[in-house]
Amino acid sequence: MTDAGADLVILGGGSGGYAAAFRAAELGLSVTLIEKDKLGGTCLHRGCIPTKALLHAAEVADSAREGEQFGVKTTLEGIDIAGVNKYKDQIVSRLYKGLQGLAGAHKVNLVEGTGTYAGGTTVEVDGQRHTGKNLILATGSYSKTLPGLELGGRIIASEEALSLDYIPEKVVVLGGGVIGVEFASVWASFGVDVTIVEALPRLVPAEDEFASKQLERAFRRRKITFKTGVRFTGAKQDDKSVTVSLESGETIEADLMLVAVGRGPNTAGHGYEEAGVRMERGFVLTDDRLRTNIPNVYAVGDIVPGLQLAHRGFAQGIFAAEEIAGLAPRAIDEAGIPRVTYSHPEVASVGLTEAAAKEKYGAGVTTFTYDLAGNGKSQILKTSGAVKLVKAPDGPVVGLHLVGDRVGELIGEAQLIYNWEAFPEDVAPLIHAHPTQTEALGEAHLALAGKPLHVHS
Ligand SMILES: Cc1cc2nc3c(=O)[nH]c(=O)nc-3n(C[C@H](O)[C@H](O)[C@H](O)COP(=O)(O)OP(=O)(O)OC[C@H]3O[C@@H](n4cnc5c(N)ncnc54)[C@H](O)[C@@H]3O)c2cc1C
Repeated sequence: MTDAGADLVILGGGSGGYAAAFRAAELGLSVTLIEKDKLGGTCLHRGCIPTKALLHAAEVADSAREGEQFGVKTTLEGIDIAGVNKYKDQIVSRLYKGLQGLAGAHKVNLVEGTGTYAGGTTVEVDGQRHTGKNLILATGSYSKTLPGLELGGRIIASEEALSLDYIPEKVVVLGGGVIGVEFASVWASFGVDVTIVEALPRLVPAEDEFASKQLERAFRRRKITFKTGVRFTGAKQDDKSVTVSLESGETIEADLMLVAVGRGPNTAGHGYEEAGVRMERGFVLTDDRLRTNIPNVYAVGDIVPGLQLAHRGFAQGIFAAEEIAGLAPRAIDEAGIPRVTYSHPEVASVGLTEAAAKEKYGAGVTTFTYDLAGNGKSQILKTSGAVKLVKAPDGPVVGLHLVGDRVGELIGEAQLIYNWEAFPEDVAPLIHAHPTQTEALGEAHLALAGKPLHVHS
């Protein structure tokens, strides 16, 4: 059977796929969305939302443990993991219901089942062919592992880590990127003895070196052990523990090892390669209009090389829908996509690192770092950290990097500054409410504009 009705067929109902579906429907296109599991994909069911719920529960645990610091008598009696999971699952299911409602309201034709790309703009599901005037591929990503390292038993990926029904005593986290650092932070707050192993020389290695240093200092204070610049060589498990070996000769015994070494594109076995879609290392290649090499076939989200973030998926989905509808949207600047690691403390950034800016603009790049020690609200919260600005020579602010509790929320302003190509002089006269953490951004721009306020010269 062939369904040849839709203006747009989308394969995969995660952040990228459903954003494209909703925007296309708003623009009057008829949409068929094919999803084999649950609408919402990784972010809603196995990623952003459940991890952030765990991180919030972790923050509550820290507050209970540290009440004394604020003159409030609290003690942490313990973590009821069943209760934590219930809270997390309720949020996911509420949002899932909302999303299903939105799909209905947009009159998206949801097709349940596993789709296989059949060439042209056709996807086959259970013997039925769905052909659109256009097709968007949005099949997302999966948790990678290392060659020879099999997931299973005590060696788990983020999916299993999210649904543990007990709190381990000791965990090794393999990988000091965003996902590894977030789980390490949750577990440390829950009283787990955590060791992070990272082959690169620093935690959150994709961030500005300043951010890594700040995070490492905070993690040291939190007694989270991390071993950077050291390779993992193997892991053995039995019914009692997992023993992790490092190239330094050291071994670490733990209850669990979380493998958080990145996510690979979910593109194998869906017919892409067979149908001649241009790919590299498993990723689908597109131009800056998100077009693949096949006419009228687009790709969005984690299968496209670049930042694997839900809001990038949303933006690309919207972009592809608007491009298909003929609105000629402005191409997405990958550097303008905000990045947040929601650990305690948080790490947030947008634009270029100092190193990348120097590569692009040369030695005339200037930076200014404002310590949260001078920020009243941060002191009230008892968080340390800093804001670092990177400025192009005689040009705008091209990088903003923040570390500290709750600074993820400041990335909203930071991304406007970057994406509107603001000069320090543009931001300096804008008034930030006192006392807020946003003042740290204000102060940093005042200083870069040559009129520092709460700054020692
Ligand atoms: C632990 C964790 C935490 C994260 N936290 C954050 C965060 O805080 N913020 C953030 O921005 N990002 C976060 N991410 C990343 C974010 O989840 C992804 O970037 C985002 O989900 C990518 O969206 P996508 O649409 O490309 O793919 P996905 O969300 O993976 O969706 C792909 C969908 O396609 C479906 N599918 C695949 N193949 C087929 C097929 N053949 N037929 C039918 N359906 C198919 C899948 O079932 C899935 O629903 C996190 C990820 C993880 C794993």
